[in-house]
Amino acid sequence: MIDGFGRRISYVRISVTDRCNLRCRYCMAEHMDFVPREDILTFEEIVELSDILIGRGVRKLRLTGGEPLVRKGVEHLIGELGSRVGNGLEELTLTTNGTQLPRFADALRRAGIRRINVSLDSRDPERFRHITRGGDLTQVLDGIEAAAEAGLAIKINMVALRDINEDEIAPMLRWCGGQGHDLTLIETMPLGEVEEDRSQHYLPLSEVKARLDREFRLIPSLARSAGPARYWEVEGMGNRLGLITPLTNNFCDGCNRIRIAATGTVYGCLGHDQKVELRTLLRSQGAPAVDEALDALLKGKPRRHEFRIASGSAPAVDRHMSATGG
Ligand code: SAM
Repeated sequence: MIDGFGRRISYVRISVTDRCNLRCRYCMAEHMDFVPREDILTFEEIVELSDILIGRGVRKLRLTGGEPLVRKGVEHLIGELGSRVGNGLEELTLTTNGTQLPRFADALRRAGIRRINVSLDSRDPERFRHITRGGDLTQVLDGIEAAAEAGLAIKINMVALRDINEDEIAPMLRWCGGQGHDLTLIETMPLGEVEEDRSQHYLPLSEVKARLDREFRLIPSLARSAGPARYWEVEGMGNRLGLITPLTNNFCDGCNRIRIAATGTVYGCLGHDQKVELRTLLRSQGAPAVDEALDALLKGKPRRHEFRIASGSAPAVDRHMSATGG
């Protein structure tokens, strides 16, 4: 799958549900309208679509959401997709808020998942509760422990938020080092309306990196994870720091991704509304029509997103990250 700018698309993120048991303030509004269940792809449809994509050269699938592990029966989907690893698919992975990992960690490992991303913006229980609007930090920490015990490599995702968790970034990197986890920091992106003005808590990672450079020796790493992060080895700690900088350092030239919403809408770019609708095609017309729609998507995939965060500025797109998955 090659897009109109010659970029090879080998990585697909699939949102298995737009629902989540947390309500992170920078991600969602407090009261969200979720998609009705009949508009969500069935597990069979997700597998059928994944097989079409693998047949066209996709090598990495990431399940995300919403919170992928709150969809009922998701372990069956994970098991089925896991059977493609080594059979066309190189990697199946998952992004999760971690709360359900005590129940699912072993099943993930059994399905062939080896690495997962767990989102954790604060290790302070009160702050965590505030950021997530009610989340219980203990559940996430227990989940991370269960995943580590199951033998899964863990990368912690932390959205850097001015005046909210900026003082926790260096301690988080140190904690991750002690636990053997990598840490990826993310700049907040203008996706969907939330109650807050995102510009108030936007923290450029260029600033964070300069601060971390005073405390840690960060050695540029050639490692890539097929995603947008750039990495540094943290000297003496054995882990890596990743930075995802959609605002301060655009990475779209190397984009190798498309994103499937839980409804079967496929987006060429996180920051644009360019899309094709595959649900009806899957249900009524089958693989040739899906292929044709994917060709159209690739042809029109935008060159780059144009995220801006300024006081009072509108989001780049109306949909929240929870619709397309992070
Ligand atoms: N529920 C799962 C989780 O918490 O990881 C998967 C979905 S969540 C939308 C994926 C990632 O996107 C999380 O790390 C979250 O912090 C991040 N995220 C959500 N909204 C964002 C935004 N507006 N800007 C930057 N990152 C965002």
